[in-house]
Amino acid sequence: MRQFKSESKKLMDMMINSIYTHKEIFLREIVSNASDAIDKLYFRSLTDSTVGLTADDFAIRIEIDKDARIIRVIDNGCGMTAEDLEKNLGTIAHSGSLNFRNENEKTENVDIIGQFGVGFYSAFMVGDKVTVDTRAFGAEEACRWESCGAEGYTIGKSDKADVGTVVAIHLKDDTEEENYSEYLEQYRISELIKKYSDYIRHPIRMAWSTRKPVEGKEGEFEDVTEDRVLNSMVPLWKKNKSEITPEEYNAFYKEKFRDWEDAARVIHAKTEGQATYNALMFIPKHPPFDFYTKEYEKGLQLYSKGVLIMDKCPDLLPDYFSFVKGLVDSEDLSLNISREMLQHDHQLKLIAKTLEKKIRSELEKMLTADRAAYEEFYKSFGVQLKFGVYNDYGMHKDVLQDLLLFTSSFEKKPATLKEYVSRMPEGQDSIYFAAGETVEKIEMLPQCDAVREKNYEILYLTENVDEFALMMLQQYDGKKFVNICDDGFDLSSEDEKKALEEKNTAAKDLFDCMKEALGDSVQAVRFTGKLKEHPVCLTSEGGLSLEMEKTLNAMPNAGGEKVKAQIVLEINADHPIAEKLNGLYDNDRDTLQKYAKLLYGEACLIGGKSVADPVEHSKLICELMLK
Ligand code: ADP
Repeated sequence: MRQFKSESKKLMDMMINSIYTHKEIFLREIVSNASDAIDKLYFRSLTDSTVGLTADDFAIRIEIDKDARIIRVIDNGCGMTAEDLEKNLGTIAHSGSLNFRNENEKTENVDIIGQFGVGFYSAFMVGDKVTVDTRAFGAEEACRWESCGAEGYTIGKSDKADVGTVVAIHLKDDTEEENYSEYLEQYRISELIKKYSDYIRHPIRMAWSTRKPVEGKEGEFEDVTEDRVLNSMVPLWKKNKSEITPEEYNAFYKEKFRDWEDAARVIHAKTEGQATYNALMFIPKHPPFDFYTKEYEKGLQLYSKGVLIMDKCPDLLPDYFSFVKGLVDSEDLSLNISREMLQHDHQLKLIAKTLEKKIRSELEKMLTADRAAYEEFYKSFGVQLKFGVYNDYGMHKDVLQDLLLFTSSFEKKPATLKEYVSRMPEGQDSIYFAAGETVEKIEMLPQCDAVREKNYEILYLTENVDEFALMMLQQYDGKKFVNICDDGFDLSSEDEKKALEEKNTAAKDLFDCMKEALGDSVQAVRFTGKLKEHPVCLTSEGGLSLEMEKTLNAMPNAGGEKVKAQIVLEINADHPIAEKLNGLYDNDRDTLQKYAKLLYGEACLIGGKSVADPVEHSKLICELMLK
């Protein structure tokens, strides 16, 4: 007896003791596997005549053996070797599954089953013994995998003669709460196939018996068995939109793309013309568990004339829409096109272009028609869109700028740039923003006062990528983006500016003396007219802001080289401290230099930076207290 890998064992336990209410989905899982296996062999048969089967030969068959309490799902797909069995049914590929389960243990309705490649194991929700007889295409012999549950499994020989797989599930005994015998009823099976597997492209056949009156013999009945196909075989995406209910779309989405929640949006497009294709795409409500990891692969499934030719075709989706799940079925692609050829395929590029437009307009629709849903979506994927603006030297900014949201000082709600501009009062010519760790911290910035006084709105940027994205945009609707923490930012009138300049020129020696005390930590010291209550603030010169400095230096690849923002210590020219400093310059330069350090420390703290030398800072404060 072989042991399941420890994770698989836990999962098996979970399946066996499942209180999951949708146990019936086991059939969907086993049938999907059968269909995938057929797809694989069918795809091969297109180029390999030794397969010896043509399109019409492929089928899935369901057999019910009431006496033995066994239900069999039989396919003539690619089959598995002993090695495949070990690899596929002895382990679970995705280790994320169980971690995920722990987090969500209390959420009962979460459909985690079937999400992480655990599909096959769901057979143990209804069965107490599962036997898999299989023969791989081209293999010398057939194998049998057998398991009665968590204890383990065996792999041995099988006398299966033809290529393909038989999954036989021996149903558990009925209990007071659970009725397993229902899966031995032909009506029930037919109903489940219609519900979950109707679109499967291959026929799902079953022997169907009906009691019929015997011809010519009144009152006499006989059992007649006929072969029936249970599914309509039309892939969902080929049906007309009007024939599909939202529930059907979502059932399809959840099964195929392994989500436990409905999609936020469904995009079903049929196009004829330059590129002929059917596309069915979904915008998820939440990121998949691996979305923000390197393992995540973007892409859409690619079908050609109904045959799956690639599971995740990355060229169909731009990076900024990598969260979209779905598929494309095109008549125009050749079936045996290779991956390398696909990359250069003109048709594919054309399709990708139109899909991008469709996704964008769907998001725009959501933004206007269902703001709450859009804001939810944005919480999950907004960062992605902002990276999209920034990446490729801003090449895609026009596509994305109207999809962006930033928290605004106006009602502290997310606002689009369009909304911001529409609310700009007369006289405002720029879009103001400030960056920081949290909205609360930004609101405390001294620089905010003057902007607020004018009733101008401020965009609060709290994510690392935000400022970089705005830098790439440069302007929106002709309005420049202005960081209120930039040293050049000043809302004063021309006269006020002039007066300030004079004050600054007059105080040149004072500033030199202060700068000497501060050394390299600042680029310059000067008076400012932008502050109201606060005595000091820090600004930056030359486009690299303090927040950007933080972000860039925190990046793993920054190497030894640290970037440095050019910081200016600005002093409120109308604050009593200004006069005090002037006085100290004349009488006590030693104290002036200590005050310079104290003021710089203060400005750092207000601006959300830490004080470089806290010990010195507190010593200076004490000294001051004792005076
Ligand atoms: P998933 O289908 O998500 O990969 P499963 O646990 O359902 O996860 O199946 C694991 C693997 O076992 C499949 O990926 C496939 O390689 C193999 N497999 C399952 N059923 C069959 C089958 N009927 N024919 C061939 N291979 C199969």
